[in-house]
Amino acid sequence: MKTNLLDLDRAGLVDFFSARGEKGFRATQLMKWIYGQGVTDFAAMTNLSKGLRADLQSCAELRLPLVVSDHLSDDGSRKWLLQLHDGNCIETVYIPEAGRGTLCVSSQVGCMLNCSFCSTAQQGFNRNLSSGEIIAQLWVAAGALGQSVDGERLISNVVMMGMGEPLLNYDNVVRAMGIMLDDFGYGLSKRRITLSTAGVIPAIGQLRKDCDVSLAVSLHAPDDLLRNQLVPLNRKYPIRELLEACKAYAGEGRRRVTFEYVMLAGVNDSDAHARQLVRCLKGVPAKINLIPFNPFPETRYQRSSNHRIQRFFEILNNAGVVTITRRTRGDDIDAACGQLAGQFQDRTRRRERVQKNTRVAS
Ligand code: SAH
Repeated sequence: MKTNLLDLDRAGLVDFFSARGEKGFRATQLMKWIYGQGVTDFAAMTNLSKGLRADLQSCAELRLPLVVSDHLSDDGSRKWLLQLHDGNCIETVYIPEAGRGTLCVSSQVGCMLNCSFCSTAQQGFNRNLSSGEIIAQLWVAAGALGQSVDGERLISNVVMMGMGEPLLNYDNVVRAMGIMLDDFGYGLSKRRITLSTAGVIPAIGQLRKDCDVSLAVSLHAPDDLLRNQLVPLNRKYPIRELLEACKAYAGEGRRRVTFEYVMLAGVNDSDAHARQLVRCLKGVPAKINLIPFNPFPETRYQRSSNHRIQRFFEILNNAGVVTITRRTRGDDIDAACGQLAGQFQDRTRRRERVQKNTRVAS
């Protein structure tokens, strides 16, 4: 078995090279080729000795996914369907905006959490991504996007908001984020990486110690009864404890935590919900991101009207809560939040179970 060097961060590469009798600086040389130059052919890495290049060819590899499709939206967003070595497919999305470009990265093949409004959840779960498969999404996107005319970075921000729950694939996600942050990797600052979670409380505490990137939490409801229905993980990790974990994450005078709130018509979008949300977030250094619901086939939900979203926004804003309404991007290519489906075999057999229940009910 060859070692996939994309699975190793800088410390891992130093160990790898020293085990082969090589100096530690080989790690940064290799990283510059892979992440700086986009080169994955060992033979082309001319500052490595010939012997080392031959050695790498026999014992190591840089395993990249296959680009199955590459869709460009009318608004400039771009979505790649990537096939992994075992045939599973995942999706990665690029969202260009004025002054920045954000890559939305997947952390798992499918998702276990079963949030009722999310298309990935409806597909079921297959497996965790390796850290190499996570960082490869940046490698593929950076290569496909090429150089910008003005020398600005095209991928200036990363959001761990693609398929999957990143905190349920903790070690691999943290290792991949380490490469994103590394000067010899993608050199992003912690501020420019956002990890979004449905609220895995113990892992939030751990993340603060290991890699305190910007945190986003998928709240979606101001009370446990409603949140239990939308985000079933809430039964294990209810709102009050979740908000305590968020406060601890933000710490004294640290950055705010973003709370995502999907706007579902007639479900969580009334004036009363907005006021309850204000009360619920009292004392939490928060900003709220209102996300208009993005529909997918066979969903029972509908997007709140623009008027309703505006009204909800005003209640929060007037109460002094920093709020933005996220513009929907890439919905013509099914690249918007919650629409990523990939292609994989569902090990949880969720699709089967859902179909069976629907048949019984009808
Ligand atoms: N598991 C992580 C990250 C993945 S989803 C989490 O739960 O945060 C990224 C964001 O998109 C989450 O806030 C999620 O709740 C939201 N989302 C999921 N489905 C959606 C949909 N159909 N419309 C709008 N947002 C959705």
